[in-house]
Amino acid sequence: MQADTVSILLPLAVEGPYTYRVPHGLTLAPGDIVRVPLGPREMLGAVWDDPPDGSVGHNRLRPVAHRYDAPPIEESLRRFVDWVARYTMTPRGMILRMVLRAPEALLPERAIAALRFSGTVPARLTPARETVLGRMADGQPLPKTGLSSALGVSPAVIAGLVAQGTLVEATIAPPPVAALPDPDHARPELGTGQIEAAEALRAMVDAGSYEVALIDGVTGSGKTEVYFEAVAEALRRGRQALILLPEIALTGDFLDRFARRFGARPAEWHSELPQRGRERVWRGVADGTVRAVVGARSALFLPFRELGLVIVDEEHDAAYKQDEGVTYHARDMAVVRGNLGAFPVVLASATPSIESRVNADQGRYRRLHLPARFRAAKLPEIRAIDLRTDPPERGRFLSPVLVKAMEETLAAGSQSLLFLNRRGYAPLTLCRTCGHRFQCPNCSSWLVEHRFRGQLVCHHCGHSEPRPSHCPICASEDSLVACGPGVERIAEEVAARFPDARAIVLSSDMQGGVQQMRAELEAIRSGAVDIVIGTQLVAKGHNFPGLALVGVVDADLGLAQGDPRAAERTFQLLAQVTGRAGRAGGDSRAFLQTYAPDHPVIAAIASGDSEAFYQREIEARRVSGLPPFGRLAGLIVSAADRASAMSHAQALRRMAPPEDVAMVLGPSEAPLAVLRGRHRFRLLVRAPRGFDLQGFIAGWLAASPPPRGSVKVQIDIDPLSF
Ligand code: ADP
Ligand code: ZN
Ligand code: ZN
Repeated sequence: MQADTVSILLPLAVEGPYTYRVPHGLTLAPGDIVRVPLGPREMLGAVWDDPPDGSVGHNRLRPVAHRYDAPPIEESLRRFVDWVARYTMTPRGMILRMVLRAPEALLPERAIAALRFSGTVPARLTPARETVLGRMADGQPLPKTGLSSALGVSPAVIAGLVAQGTLVEATIAPPPVAALPDPDHARPELGTGQIEAAEALRAMVDAGSYEVALIDGVTGSGKTEVYFEAVAEALRRGRQALILLPEIALTGDFLDRFARRFGARPAEWHSELPQRGRERVWRGVADGTVRAVVGARSALFLPFRELGLVIVDEEHDAAYKQDEGVTYHARDMAVVRGNLGAFPVVLASATPSIESRVNADQGRYRRLHLPARFRAAKLPEIRAIDLRTDPPERGRFLSPVLVKAMEETLAAGSQSLLFLNRRGYAPLTLCRTCGHRFQCPNCSSWLVEHRFRGQLVCHHCGHSEPRPSHCPICASEDSLVACGPGVERIAEEVAARFPDARAIVLSSDMQGGVQQMRAELEAIRSGAVDIVIGTQLVAKGHNFPGLALVGVVDADLGLAQGDPRAAERTFQLLAQVTGRAGRAGGDSRAFLQTYAPDHPVIAAIASGDSEAFYQREIEARRVSGLPPFGRLAGLIVSAADRASAMSHAQALRRMAPPEDVAMVLGPSEAPLAVLRGRHRFRLLVRAPRGFDLQGFIAGWLAASPPPRGSVKVQIDIDPLSF
């Protein structure tokens, strides 16, 4: 190894770092962020720990161009990048890319241009000039932009004073990204169950070592207040804290809640943050001025300087799994980050994932159980409505029992929530005359009618077309029928039945983005809405104090999917959405419309016996060797045409190493056989726990013919659907 060479990892699809020459006078250490030449251009990279490649002639190495004056990527984050790459079987450079998301942040932050009083009084004083001097005599600089209107004078007055030398150029440091949270700003009085759990978390933070806690507490049990105590303790100890939430729609209320507890809003991090905001948060996290971040899964890759705690709220949520690009599960990777960084990780949920529950049962995680709601608020009374005996009227979707409950709720001045996990008006449109069904041209899925927008939309690729007035095949007029309900259709029924009620539809395809969503959630919380109709967006974590009734329009919806996780997912969704009711106390009810009231999932929700569901589901997984009792990986083989995808998948299957313990299944058509114009086949690898799945797959792919033409192979370790 040569002393004046260095390994630089680049944020590209490359496995290892490249070797560069260190120019004279530059000192580099692992983690330093640098700019290096690559081909005809220069790009950002980071000094990595691998020994430089000594085989390349020194005179052929290109020099590092520049070292940024920025905090280095600290060691545990570098190990995290390596670890995630190995686990997800992704080139290391692609993981580094997730860290270097906001490279502009490396430049010093621009100061704000300002003007200040120089001390020189102008020869002639007008009333307007006096006004300006009156406000600026203390010598404090004021921002240039908007100065004249802020002082109520014309721009010419300001310009005149600058010309006279009375006002001179100055700068103001930009305001901090987030004010410092105060761990003792407003400490709540904890309830009996909460005290013990909070004490356990505080002790974990004090120990300052890796450990995972699972807060398993019913909806409304006060999990947030409990983990806030862990956050407070981390802050007291000078460590940064990260809280992950599955849905950015949730963060609006959450930021306020955090601010009430800590006296300052945390920094937020998600994909809808403007670029400038991202840069500032990235830098603040790196230089340590930001102490607490609330963010989406990608926040796990921020370059924290002294991270001491990660909370994963709603840890069961499937939104933590990233399915495109790097396929990783943020909950699992949070645990890894805690392990590498030697700090505790807290998972919280009212409906823990089977994985986390088993980890807790087997003693790997510490389980903190909160079985009752805070201040003895009652859980809703839950009832299944058997649609076979209590059907809705023809062409309607709400059964008379539910409608009556809504009337009562409305009369009592409380809110109702109708939940249906289907966006749009109808999931399928067909022609009554010729039977034509509207299908997406790019995917194997039906087009969903969105009546408010007058369009048919594919929910997988975003393709949309205007809803035609006649059938494109047989040209019949007025022959198109909408089959089944989506939330828009339920809203239509609500408008017809309750014309005076204030109703609102909440689903993820609202046009106004996050801001509109937050405004509407706030309207619900403030009581400006009587009936909420929503998709799973409303099921998650929200606090709607006025909500006294929840109606699940189709409780069987998720159960029909032939996926071993369907039961778990449906159970979680139903428990979460029914758990929105009655959180502020008082009597509340939840109804599940179902054709299968005896299904174990429906029965567990209706009886409130979640333990019955967990024991049954865990046992079923154990018997069949499914996760977490076995390991799974999916290989999705896709291509522009079906034949290429299939033949490559079959070729891979033939090359699968003979293995006694690992089993390769398939190829079969992937759950979405065509997606965005690509045909997809799937191979599944099943292996016992502890088996080196990544090693097996790496060896297998290395010995197989590489994909050619449009063929791509995507590896999904621990797939969520299988
Ligand atoms: P969970 O996250 O378990 O669903 P939350 O933490 O949102 O529950 O708490 C439910 C409700 O109870 C919230 O309105 C919260 O403000 C309130 N609450 C919980 N713990 C306390 C406490 N110790 N003091 C005051 N209010 C609390
Ligand atoms: Zn037709
Ligand atoms: Zn599509």
